[in-house]
Amino acid sequence: MKKSLYCMLLLAVSCTGNKTEPSLSMQLSKGTWIDLTYSFSEETLYWPTADKFRFDTVFVGVTPAGFYYEAFNFCAAEHGGTHLDAPVHFAKGKWTADQIPLGNLTGEAVVIDVSANALKNPDYQITVADMETWEKINGSIPDDAILLFRTGYGSFYPDAKKYLGTDERGAEAVAKLHFPGIHPDAATWLATRRKIKAVGLDVASVDYGQSKDFKTHQLLYEKNICGFENVANLDKLPATGVYIIALPMKIKNGSGGPLRIMAWVKK
Ligand SMILES: [Zn+2]
Repeated sequence: MKKSLYCMLLLAVSCTGNKTEPSLSMQLSKGTWIDLTYSFSEETLYWPTADKFRFDTVFVGVTPAGFYYEAFNFCAAEHGGTHLDAPVHFAKGKWTADQIPLGNLTGEAVVIDVSANALKNPDYQITVADMETWEKINGSIPDDAILLFRTGYGSFYPDAKKYLGTDERGAEAVAKLHFPGIHPDAATWLATRRKIKAVGLDVASVDYGQSKDFKTHQLLYEKNICGFENVANLDKLPATGVYIIALPMKIKNGSGGPLRIMAWVKK
């Protein structure tokens, strides 16, 4: 009798144990979601040679049948606004937008703030030293991390002159682009000495505006590391304790595409 009571008690304790384990939504409620995406509109910034976002009205209003109805057509280049660079963008045979595993678009992120240097110099290139300085304070960039760089240029969006260095459009405008990016030496270090899933930053390109050969794109994408460009609200993220969900439009054989990216941050 005593033994069965003991068993019942044990069962009760283990049941209570299970009940007290917080539900998934309880655990998620201990953090906040931050939208890292700019809305797409006529204001959206594109590379000077790329087609801008178009949003054409199909119908807005009350139909002859008496019900209300809205619909639009949209059209845009893959690479503009908050967007994904799929590795194939600069590396033949690597992942296209639809091939990137979901696990490479989601996961723990770390944020490296380089704004003190980048805001002083529109041609600033993020160095290995920037990352080593961060690691001295926060520890090694964890394996499989999504690495976000905050240059501070997000505060200029969507002012093309300040954000891109020029508001001119067309092929001649490309030489006038001035904004920070990742130095190819830093890209090599990341591609060979660390194991990251993706890089993201609050400028229009992973290479700096004055780049002619897009070496950083080549070095990272060759390793199937994805790029997130024109990422918004990076000033709202802490250095660690961030979880990213970055879901691009699933364009078959696409080299990139509009990206909805958000962060979960511990309260
Ligand atoms: Zn791009």
